[in-house]
Amino acid sequence: MNGPGLRVVVVGAGLAGLTAAVDLATAGADVTVLEARDRVGGRMHGVGMSGVVADGGAAYLGVRHTELLALIREHGLDVASTAMTGDSTFLMSDHRTTTASRVPPLDAVALGELFDRLEDLVGQVRTDAPWQSRQAGRLDRMSAARWLAEEIRHPDAGTFFPLFIGEMMAADPTAISALHMAFYLRSGGGIRYLNAFEGGAQQWRIDGGAHLLTLALARRLGDRVRLGHPVCAIKQDAGEVVVQTVPDVAHTCSEYRADQVVVAIPPLLAQRIEFRPALRMPRATAATGRGCAVKVHLSYPTPMWRESGLSGWSVSSAGPLLSTVDDSPPDGSAGVLTGFVTGAAASAFSALSAAEQREAVLAHTRVLFPQLPPPTQCTVTDWLAEKYSRGCYAALFGPGDWLRLGPSLTAPHGRVHWAGTETSLEFFGLMEGAIRSGRRVAAELIHGTEQVTVSRKAMAL
Ligand code: FAD
Repeated sequence: MNGPGLRVVVVGAGLAGLTAAVDLATAGADVTVLEARDRVGGRMHGVGMSGVVADGGAAYLGVRHTELLALIREHGLDVASTAMTGDSTFLMSDHRTTTASRVPPLDAVALGELFDRLEDLVGQVRTDAPWQSRQAGRLDRMSAARWLAEEIRHPDAGTFFPLFIGEMMAADPTAISALHMAFYLRSGGGIRYLNAFEGGAQQWRIDGGAHLLTLALARRLGDRVRLGHPVCAIKQDAGEVVVQTVPDVAHTCSEYRADQVVVAIPPLLAQRIEFRPALRMPRATAATGRGCAVKVHLSYPTPMWRESGLSGWSVSSAGPLLSTVDDSPPDGSAGVLTGFVTGAAASAFSALSAAEQREAVLAHTRVLFPQLPPPTQCTVTDWLAEKYSRGCYAALFGPGDWLRLGPSLTAPHGRVHWAGTETSLEFFGLMEGAIRSGRRVAAELIHGTEQVTVSRKAMAL
């Protein structure tokens, strides 16, 4: 370690910041975690629903999420299977069907061709340095939507593609680069793994809610975690770094002095912090977008759709609920359907009033599941409106971003180090990526693998 008792301020008490803080505290560092919200967990958040807690944010994990599984076990938590039985429901161009298949009733040859082309593209991305992939410049300039238009013209591929990218990445294909799409799919374990429930990235949920893990990490840190502390400025010189919070109602801002700082917040929010000296490379550009996802939870006395032989899984070609999934507790003691509103549909939905959102959801549910009574509760978690997330599942790298931002994603800025799922080349955007980024940055500080490189002159406060 860079000296016992190294003073470290961690900005952000999401999974990445908490993981880094626990590792650093365990190694003997003097750690303070500054969190803007009045809760920990960031994009992992439990939503109370008639006696059960649903995942308003991150929910699913699979066998390849090895760091996450280890952390779950370490904290005495368990996973619950997402295995589904029963038929899927599809609503394509207002036509409702139910079938045993999990794939929408669209032209199988066109969908097969789409997946073949996507596999080829994903296979050419370098996960260790996406900006150095074959044809990186061309793919980084081009949107994912244009990539599709150049590769495959069948209308059913055009129907399916935005649904797939919306579900996988909470993205509108017009807003992300083809390189980002390919990188994300590869980083998450490949198309088949990312897309699958059984045996894939959605095999389990954390029993009781993903937020329980962040609560357990925060408990371990105790009063090192300060809630309601939004950081607005980070100023450093050759001797130390000063972290300032947004002035409170009495116009007082707190200052925390440290030897090193870990910034573990999404890139669009890191870009808003004032750094002195200024960052040499930005954390986000005008092309960087918010992930577009709204989660809707519908509560029922029991998983009643199962009585009609339905799994609760649905896909619709038009919003708001582009897909639904059965997230009921394992013992079936209550019924919880989770609806996903993603991509362009999420932006439109987010602009509606609460009453309009509810009416749109209930109208859609009546068509999808006409045999169900109205839900006893309908809860909307709108991540686009969350000031301290600015979208989810993760930031979206738009055209030009990977070549501009990629090479400096993890490069320290003097005493400032970067964590957060968007800094992880493995499982980017996922809980697993957040943990890996926290572990990387803690190791960086504990073992001193990165040197403080900013000169004394440049660092004048
Ligand atoms: P965050 O969780 O965003 O943590 C950053 C923290 O910093 C937050 O607590 C925030 O309040 C705080 N902060 C922000 N600005 C400041 C500031 N200026 N000063 C101080 N604090 C600040 N992942 C999966 O693996 N599986 C899934 O099924 C999945 N589904 C998802 C569904 C949804 C709806 C959402 C929202 C996310 C989903 N994810 C999923 C993604 C997963 O939640 C994230 O990858 C992960 O939680 C990111 O952790 P993080 O610590 O990097 O960032």
